[in-house]
Amino acid sequence: MEKIQMVDLIGQYAKIKEEIRIEFDRVLDSAAFINGPLVREFQSNLEDYLGVKHVIPCANGTDALQVIMMAHDFPKDAEILVPSYTYVATVEVIALLGLKPVFVEVYPDSFNIDIEDLQTKITKNSVAIVPVHLYGQCADMERLITVAQSHDLLVFEDTAQAIGANYIFTNGETARAGTIGDAGATSFFPAKNLGCYGDGGAIFTNDDKLAAKIRMIVNHGQGKRYYHDSIGVNSRLDSLQAAVLKVKLKYLDSYSEARRTVADRYDLAFSQSDKITTPFRSHFSTHVFHQYTIKLADDVDRNELSTFLSDRNIPSMIYYPVPNHLQKAYTYFGYRNGDFPVTEDLCSRVISFPIHTEMDVEQQKVIIDGVLGYLTS
Ligand SMILES: *Cc1c(COP(=O)(O)O)cnc(C)c1O
Repeated sequence: MEKIQMVDLIGQYAKIKEEIRIEFDRVLDSAAFINGPLVREFQSNLEDYLGVKHVIPCANGTDALQVIMMAHDFPKDAEILVPSYTYVATVEVIALLGLKPVFVEVYPDSFNIDIEDLQTKITKNSVAIVPVHLYGQCADMERLITVAQSHDLLVFEDTAQAIGANYIFTNGETARAGTIGDAGATSFFPAKNLGCYGDGGAIFTNDDKLAAKIRMIVNHGQGKRYYHDSIGVNSRLDSLQAAVLKVKLKYLDSYSEARRTVADRYDLAFSQSDKITTPFRSHFSTHVFHQYTIKLADDVDRNELSTFLSDRNIPSMIYYPVPNHLQKAYTYFGYRNGDFPVTEDLCSRVISFPIHTEMDVEQQKVIIDGVLGYLTS
């Protein structure tokens, strides 16, 4: 049996190697490394896949979030509402732009932004909400949009972990994660559900004016060459990365399906244990399982479980051990331990197990037996 990995990018590459090499050769033979035809082909294919008017490729998911915010020229005291339980990038860009992240609690079951708490955190300085579709499942967008509209707030979706997930509206209509708010940001980091072979990211929007502004900002704020209308950044997706993404996009739905199959098998096995709460599946979103993250009961020693597994060559990860409001870098915002009890509790009891497109039943059985073996010992 192959060594178990959190993510098996080698096994995945082996299956698409020929196709990737053909697209790589197109880039290499043309030397169109920056803004080459492959970037436009991928962009257009992704627009079709998502059903969104504009995809603007950029250098990574963090830039995608930053550029969306730069495009709005928010005043210095502007507040951006963001879940307390998320990857740091969501918070970092807000702080970097001199704006104020205002944390919002998450739901204990879905780990996504709590709409009731959100409403209590809105002030006259609030300008936008950044829902994060954590681990691959959409936040409650319909209720969130209603709140946003009634307070005149923009909505920027962080869909770095949920590309390909479908949001299901009450009227039965569906929309891809990242295409529901005013803009969406995603990441093509290798381990993401649609990952390239380096860094990459993209912004989604249906707003023509916003798209035009974002296209300028990612290119040094330049409209016409060497005429700079606003302060911009240099944030591009390489043609070689676009080549990888163009190939992998064709398989994204089957990759999501493969991840769901793995999740279903974990759910079934772990439902036997009263020490494990398996991932919540909401009625308004499909789940693309960027992570398979469970909650452990109070009396389980998470460190001991993780050591027990790693002694048996089974990797596991904690996403995330320290909530953002308690990170050293952000203490200046004045948050304290106890401000977000759900988030703090999750950080102390979640654990993620390997999930990827290449997981076979035999490997998964080793993981399941390891986990259940520890919990019943
Ligand atoms: C990965 C990730 C990002 C950042 O993406 P990069 O491409 O690594 O910059 C942002 N938000 C979330 C929720 C992520 O998981």
